[in-house]
Amino acid sequence: MPNATSIFGLLEKLNSTDIVVHQNRCAVVRNRNATCSKCVEACTSGCLSYDNNELVVSPEKCIGCGTCATVCPTCAIEAQHPTDAELLQSCTAVMRATDGEVVIACEQILGAADGLYDPAKVVGVVCLGRVEESLIAALAGAGAKQVSLVQAKCSACAHAKGLATAKLVCETANTLLDTWNSSLRARVTEKLPAVVRRDDESFDVRRRDFFSTVRDEATSAAAVTADYAVREALHVEDEVEPKYVKVGRDGTLPHQVPDRRVRLLASLSELGKPQDVMIETRLWGHVVIELDRCSSCQMCATFCPTGAISKFEDADGVFGIQHNPGKCVKCLCCTDICVEDALWISDEVFAVDLLDGKAERYEMQPQKNPPNNPHAILHAVKDLIGMEQVYER
Ligand code: SF4
Ligand code: SF4
Ligand code: SF4
Repeated sequence: MPNATSIFGLLEKLNSTDIVVHQNRCAVVRNRNATCSKCVEACTSGCLSYDNNELVVSPEKCIGCGTCATVCPTCAIEAQHPTDAELLQSCTAVMRATDGEVVIACEQILGAADGLYDPAKVVGVVCLGRVEESLIAALAGAGAKQVSLVQAKCSACAHAKGLATAKLVCETANTLLDTWNSSLRARVTEKLPAVVRRDDESFDVRRRDFFSTVRDEATSAAAVTADYAVREALHVEDEVEPKYVKVGRDGTLPHQVPDRRVRLLASLSELGKPQDVMIETRLWGHVVIELDRCSSCQMCATFCPTGAISKFEDADGVFGIQHNPGKCVKCLCCTDICVEDALWISDEVFAVDLLDGKAERYEMQPQKNPPNNPHAILHAVKDLIGMEQVYER
């Protein structure tokens, strides 16, 4: 798994016309004990990998597919070619041309089916791993009837790992759509649906346009390598974000709920009220704290990247932390930082809690040895040896 020293400065090698990296959002950069390695596990091309437990980034292998961005819980990696807004725009155009079916296909199958389909009725992507739930939920709001992700023979593709991500995204999206009473469903299929078959004489013109777009995309993927090689050769440094984020007055690091989560919840709320059920998806978690083990250090709130865990202190002195599942991105920073193993994440959340901002409170006891107490070491030693007769000099 990556650690802060191995990941910091390496991830930025991914920066290209296709991919933008925001290092300070990365769970591992925020907390060197974080165990997140989702981008490495999902990378379709071997661009992100490990060698002797050290992260290796090989930008020349990156195909700009955006699968790493799909799985990154904090949106530390963003796909740029196309952006989420551009992809949504292309999908809604296709939806209008097909009377409700959105067909998204990978470049492999589109290359194999050249001449057989109408380019105005299919959205091409480098890999199906590019598609994520906020896109599908937005399409549900726009009136789509079906989202079909068309794969080629992925098992024979060098980037086959993208298929697993696409299937997981469809499964999650379908759970959400069902819970929000939408009839839209997303599926992975091996065949181009009949609706995309070419059916008019303007095909040749559209085909030319389409292939010039695909060519641009291929050029852009190749540009990843070129960009990086040129920057290295010229010793050009990108603008670097501040190296370490600072703890604010409330004793926590800066928070940000990722854009995609905000858009996903906004699209779901437009669909109406969800059923009052618990759902289990890859996206949200519910923090459970075993208070008899908790030392009240509140480090979970300090490191939570989204503010899903926050501190509270009432006028009567009652204090503790609260957890808002709607802001949780299941990055596991809180479980990774807790030295007492007092905290774990349940995969099940109530759908209604995701939108209503409801937070669960955990009231805490004052710390036995708060770190700002000048006698902290004395008290810690007393606890350790179980004796009161210990004195400071
Ligand atoms: S864009 Fe695709 S190939 Fe490049 S690092 Fe991300 S997952 Fe790997
Ligand atoms: S998936 Fe995102 S948060 Fe996790 S290690 Fe990769 S960049 Fe960091
Ligand atoms: S509550 Fe835990 S798992 Fe959820 S976003 Fe915060 S640190 Fe990540």
